[in-house]
Amino acid sequence: MQGLMMQQPLLVASLLMHAERHHGEQEIVSRRVEGDIHRYRYRDLAQRARRLANGLAALGIAPGERVATLAWNGYRHMELYFAVSGSGAVLHTLNPRLHIDQVSYIIEHAEDRVVFFDLSFLPLIESLMKRVKSPKCFVAMTDRAHMPKALGHADALLCYEDLIDRHDDAFDWPMLDENDASSLCYTSGTTGNPKGVLYSHRSTVLHTYAAALPDSLNCSARDVILPVVPMFHVNAWGLPYIACMVGAKLVFPGPALDGKSLYELIEAEQVTLSAGVPTVWQGLLSHVAERGGTFSSMRRTVIGGAACPTAMTSKFQECYQVEVLHAWGMTELSPVGTVCSFKGHQSALSGEHRYAVQAKQGRSVFGIDMKIVGPDGAEVPWDGHATGDLLVRGPWVARQYFGTDDPPPLQDGWFPTGDVAKIDADGFMQITDRSKDVIKSGGEWISSADIENVASRHPEVTMAACIAARHPKWDERPLLLIVTRPGSTLTGSELLAFLDGKIAKWWRPDAVVLVESIPLGATGKVLKHRLREQYANYYVTALTERSGSSAASITQHE
Ligand code: AMP
Repeated sequence: MQGLMMQQPLLVASLLMHAERHHGEQEIVSRRVEGDIHRYRYRDLAQRARRLANGLAALGIAPGERVATLAWNGYRHMELYFAVSGSGAVLHTLNPRLHIDQVSYIIEHAEDRVVFFDLSFLPLIESLMKRVKSPKCFVAMTDRAHMPKALGHADALLCYEDLIDRHDDAFDWPMLDENDASSLCYTSGTTGNPKGVLYSHRSTVLHTYAAALPDSLNCSARDVILPVVPMFHVNAWGLPYIACMVGAKLVFPGPALDGKSLYELIEAEQVTLSAGVPTVWQGLLSHVAERGGTFSSMRRTVIGGAACPTAMTSKFQECYQVEVLHAWGMTELSPVGTVCSFKGHQSALSGEHRYAVQAKQGRSVFGIDMKIVGPDGAEVPWDGHATGDLLVRGPWVARQYFGTDDPPPLQDGWFPTGDVAKIDADGFMQITDRSKDVIKSGGEWISSADIENVASRHPEVTMAACIAARHPKWDERPLLLIVTRPGSTLTGSELLAFLDGKIAKWWRPDAVVLVESIPLGATGKVLKHRLREQYANYYVTALTERSGSSAASITQHE
């Protein structure tokens, strides 16, 4: 027998409609690329999103077509989130930190029809215009007064505010199928090209419900939310959707992610909840410590994307009374998988017992099931000691990558995360290692395989292996180990110079170590775990004994 409830599809546009109708007066504040602060309300957002939806239709964007963004966190990006997905097209958030070769590849692979961009990315757009064929136009997310002077292909360049001004706000969000695609985000694979994760309206809305819950990110209409995590990285962990669902005030930082700018915004807008990777919080904490400030409104901060060090948790909680919510997720999981919030019997814990729990990535939010398995595929017990490969499943977990004929990654219906973890009897998961061979620096991926491939092209290099070495600021940085031809005089600096221009600047290893040999397994594969055992602390040690160290200066993300 069927239930007798209404059949209403779960759609991204319904989040915006709810925000407009029930929280229309709630504010959205953005630090703009133009340098000033912009503020308006949810009802303005909804109205402009409808105008934009009409603008997209006028550009000939058909349902299912991909519309790309190269943009920071801001209100125009938010308008695109809803106008694109709401009208049935697919929002494709591009990661501007990738090398231009990868950005071009991704645009062509996704067959993006339009690229919307913030002015900071103009030089990148100029180069892309010459390289990519699929977009029919590029839209500068600014007003007429700030429009760039004519570019090479000026007829393909449009002005965002013109597009909004030219269309009225009468637009009915279409009743889509909830399983239709709503947005697309590429993630760097361990080998080969980046892979696209294609979210649906249903997966997005279900993820929004689950991620907003009190034991998840704990969001409400009383919150002022500052997403520092970029809107191009897994939809800013879903916060733009969550804010609409709960009616929270939103504060967008634009391109200014340094400690001082973030602190000023947090205080000026009385932010209660923020979210980002540990590297960003390091900058914020250093700034606040230097100027001797406090947080007058911030109560919670979500830290994820990389393990949150206990020193950071204790600093936030003891010095500033800001509760840390340690979370784990992935692009393939929309992204929230686990959040570390205490169970009732743990709330009285204090001191190191409390921090021992908070060092864990946390327990599953409803919707995500997880298990850890050994090499034979058998489940490993949840005893807090035994480790295994972490697998997950749920309605907002990817089952296949976009636009590929590769076999689906699933193992018996479970998605292999590439993380190695243990789980305790309370269901708290803790990442202990990574089986995927990638480096995560400041929250963004670096492909070890790509660096090795480029380094191996140097005629003096006979073998190259790149590993993740711990770093106090960036969490991890690439360390390149090479074997050179007998008699070669190649130096580390010469090899680094050879890499320049062939990989993104921030992918450049901080140091190159010349070694006699690189350990290989029976099948000829480099034994990365052996190298990690030996070199994982290379930068930490080098930075401590800075003078006379062989580590090159510490590179920065741009
Ligand atoms: P991404 O798809 O870029 O969001 O990266 C997801 C990956 O980042 C995970 O598979 C983990 O390897 C890593 N990661 C995310 N959150 C955490 C965390 N809290 N602690 C440790 N690693 C994390």
